[in-house]
Amino acid sequence: MPWMRSRWHELLHLFFPRHCLLCGRSLVKGEEGICLHCLCDLPRTDWHLQADNPLVEALREAFPFEHGVAFFHFEQGGKMRRLLHAFKYQGHKEIGYWMGRLLAQEWMAVQSDCTRFDYIVPVPLHRDRQRQRGYNQAEWIAQGLRSVWGTPIDTTSLYRTQATESQTHKDRAERWRNVCAVFKVAEDSPLAGKRILLVDDTCTTGATLVGCANALHALPDTRVSFLALAST
Ligand SMILES: [Zn+2]
Repeated sequence: MPWMRSRWHELLHLFFPRHCLLCGRSLVKGEEGICLHCLCDLPRTDWHLQADNPLVEALREAFPFEHGVAFFHFEQGGKMRRLLHAFKYQGHKEIGYWMGRLLAQEWMAVQSDCTRFDYIVPVPLHRDRQRQRGYNQAEWIAQGLRSVWGTPIDTTSLYRTQATESQTHKDRAERWRNVCAVFKVAEDSPLAGKRILLVDDTCTTGATLVGCANALHALPDTRVSFLALAST
C-alpha cells in the first residue's frame, strides 16, 4: 500500500536526522542514511550481477542454497564496518531499511526471477539479545526488501534456542556444530513448500546461514536462498 509506505518514510524522517552517518554531510533529496559519495565508496562485491559467486559456491558445500548474495565486502577499518557498527550497536536501525530497499531494487533489476520469493525470513536473534538491543537488525533489512518486492516476512517460524556463547576458543568445526544446533523451526510453520530468502547483516563463516537453512529444510520441499549486506 503506497500511502502506508509514504507515511513510513515520513516517520523515519521525523525521528532520524538527515545527515550522512559516515561523513556528516547534509543529505539531499533521494539520499537516505548515507550520502551518495559515501555510498559509492562502499566496497561492492557485484555478486548480484553474476549467476554464482564465491560465497554461495563455498556455502553450497554445507547446504544446497538456491541463490545467495552479499553486496559489500566487510573490511576492517573501512566504511562498511563503520556503517554496520552504527546499524547494529548504535541504534541506527533505519540503515537496514534503506539498504534493504536499495539492494532489493538492484537485485530485481538484474535478476528478477531470483527475487520472486514466497517469504523473507530474517535470521533470528536470541530473545535476550533482542531485548538488550531493542531490535533485530536483520528484520529491518527484511522490511526494506518487503517495501520494494511486497514479499511477506515470517519472524515466528524460525527461532534460536540458545544465545551463542563466545566462540573464539573453539575450532572451526566446533563452531559450526554449535551454531547449526541452535536454530529450530516451529512445526506449524507456513514455510513448508515455499521459496524462502534468509536475510542477515553480515556473513562471516556462513555457519549461521547454514544453521538456519538446515532448520528450514526440516520442512518438506523448501527452497532456501540468502541475502547478506556484507561478507568478511
Ligand atoms: Zn557521506
